[in-house]
Amino acid sequence: MSKMDFNREFDARHGELVAITDELSRVTCNNPSALTFAGTNTFLVGKNEVVVIDPGPMDLEHLDALMKAIDGRPVKAILVSHTHVDHSPLAGPLKEKTGAPVMGCGPHKRAVSFSDMAETPMDASSQKDFVPDDELEDGTKISVDGVTIEVVATPGHTENHLSFALPEQGVMLPGDHVMAWSTTIVAPPDGSMNAYMKSLDKLMARSETRYFPSHGGEVNNPKVFLPQLKQHRQMRSDAILERLRAGDDEVMTMVKAIYTDVDPKLHGAAALNVLAQLDDLIAQGVVMCDAKVTLSAKFTLRELT
Ligand SMILES: [Zn+2]
Repeated sequence: MSKMDFNREFDARHGELVAITDELSRVTCNNPSALTFAGTNTFLVGKNEVVVIDPGPMDLEHLDALMKAIDGRPVKAILVSHTHVDHSPLAGPLKEKTGAPVMGCGPHKRAVSFSDMAETPMDASSQKDFVPDDELEDGTKISVDGVTIEVVATPGHTENHLSFALPEQGVMLPGDHVMAWSTTIVAPPDGSMNAYMKSLDKLMARSETRYFPSHGGEVNNPKVFLPQLKQHRQMRSDAILERLRAGDDEVMTMVKAIYTDVDPKLHGAAALNVLAQLDDLIAQGVVMCDAKVTLSAKFTLRELT
């Protein structure tokens, strides 16, 4: 049913330093899974001096691979896009080895509408004790070896999610916000669909044309792909409204009816996506909830149309 132009071609070359452009290279961690695809891409920006973006999970082999890739060059900073365990935990050990400050997203936090929500399986995917030396705000610029890195706040996948642009290169490192191989999980309590859609608009208004996500390969034609991502979410939202009209009032019932094309192993994650959509529909005044917005709550259309 999806008309997305997904690109799952990617030669990870785990642990190797792979050049992308003159100023940008990656080392992909050997942590493939249903959620991380081929593993986490750690980016290095700069040649004589480097900035490391998203060091990755607590994986000492990956730490060795990064030290080999850095090859004695000074590390100006370690940047972190968000506090999921496949992105931030290695920042501490890498700081110890290089002396570079950890900068980037703020500590883990929940999206506002889910501040009281019970724990979900997704809670285990966050590094709760991450504290950067320097929390970066939207628009902050860092220069490394003549290359500018601009912080672009893109909440949605998580409340604290940052993307990093290299404006002079026309390059965007969108973290987990935009990925070529799959849609992004927007899962409460950390994720917010409302914020995610606004962040997509924010990226679409920018001029960068080459997107290198934290998992998998380059996005083909972001000017086409990003609007497709928006349409895809709109389609999911329409499907939820259809289920509500048909009388479904629980998240899991809707998931089983809607996500027929998705591996049932991912239905738990899909349920959180549906919850995020319902929260967005509540914010739009279209849907009501009998209690707090949680997986066990009952949802109804505000008015039949
Ligand atoms: Zn993530």
